[in-house]
Amino acid sequence: MDLRFSSRAAAVVVCAVVVAAAGCTPAGGGVRGQPGAAGLRDPYFPKLGNGGYDVGHYALTLDWDPASGRLTGSAEVTARATQDLSAFHLDLHGMTVGSVTVDGRAAAANRAGDELVVRPRRDIAEGTVFRTVVRYAGVPRAVTDADSSREGWLRTPGGAIAVGEPAGSAAWFPGNHHPSDKATYDITVTVPEGLRAVSNGVRTGEHTAGGRTTSVWRSAEPMAAYLATLAVGDLRVTSSRAESGLPVVTAADPAVEAGASRLLRRVPEFLAWCAERFGPYPFSSTGAVVVPDDRLGYALETQSRPVFPLGQFDEATLVHEMAHQWFGNSVSPESWRDIWLNEGFATYAEWLWHEDADGVSVAESFREAYASDANWAFPPADPPGPADLFGPPVYERGAMVLHRVRAAVGDETFFRIVRGWAAEHRHGNASTAQFTAYVEEKSGRDLDAVWDAWLYGGTRPPLP
Ligand code: ZN
Repeated sequence: MDLRFSSRAAAVVVCAVVVAAAGCTPAGGGVRGQPGAAGLRDPYFPKLGNGGYDVGHYALTLDWDPASGRLTGSAEVTARATQDLSAFHLDLHGMTVGSVTVDGRAAAANRAGDELVVRPRRDIAEGTVFRTVVRYAGVPRAVTDADSSREGWLRTPGGAIAVGEPAGSAAWFPGNHHPSDKATYDITVTVPEGLRAVSNGVRTGEHTAGGRTTSVWRSAEPMAAYLATLAVGDLRVTSSRAESGLPVVTAADPAVEAGASRLLRRVPEFLAWCAERFGPYPFSSTGAVVVPDDRLGYALETQSRPVFPLGQFDEATLVHEMAHQWFGNSVSPESWRDIWLNEGFATYAEWLWHEDADGVSVAESFREAYASDANWAFPPADPPGPADLFGPPVYERGAMVLHRVRAAVGDETFFRIVRGWAAEHRHGNASTAQFTAYVEEKSGRDLDAVWDAWLYGGTRPPLP
């Protein structure tokens, strides 16, 4: 059931009006809060994310029944108020909210589209850490993106897969779903005995009781919501350790296991290859999940455990999603306008791999990308709309930008910059402006000509 604002909350609203005129005492022990914003004004998704607080940790407790498709969840969201708050929003797509508490006390809540508006009993003072618990249930919905790919919560033959870049993660848990608000996660999932559930990070427990199996997954390093994943099914799960001791967990749907197992065993090799070029791996576990093709249109770099449709589970895509662990997952975009930083680096990693593994030089990859008209549809730093965020210029022209930087500063400085950038913003967020400033600072060069022509320019510059 959806909760409506309680009459008490309505009284607070009335009081707030009176406060402005006559100064009656506000609800929260002297704090006179304002509602947090409904969105973070992302240039592509103005309502995505929420203002007024910063999430530190999500503890999600989920129970999923494949027969009915019903997900029953409890999301405990621990956040710090960044302003005095009378109310705040959480993003949630579909699902029915049963109850909301803030610091253990029932809070009023209502729904408006993909926003869940929570009005706590007392206003929350800026700087306060508060804990919101949302109990919710329903059959989670798939989300159709602007580019018509489907994400959010997708059914597989015997299970489900949750992926969501840019905005699908709100289909299965409430939160601050903008990449600028990263948080740690504990995800506890219960499914019928015989099925397996695999999520991000390290598995810290698994037990079966009364015909239900519960597994607990911990992401101890900050994660953007779009990188959260959950795979449920009759999965073939392997757990091992890389040479470094890092836990490796892979999972494959039985329908794709035969086709996936050879490359799945090579995950540690790809990780080591990336670490050599990009610096220390930022997370405390790795792995991959492979699912049938017809369910999922794209591979996704879900944190520590990327997800692939079988048809895209190849060396290039594995390198690409692995490189995202540094570029995108550890160093995350400040807004969706900075997506070329994710995809440009991941595509450049593919070019480097082709050179190493197949003898195709980076210069050749560059020339091929240069020759393709699709890469000149718009500048990578300014996709025209949300349907273009994953368009060819973001990937390939993004990689071209990096190659032009390399040509300008030389190999040694370039790879020092690549590693330095990953280190400087490790587990943080960064923007395009920060990147161009960083490159110029570390190289001691004015690179306006590179940025103007390759990153921002509207037309194809002459082939260098
Ligand atoms: Zn990518």
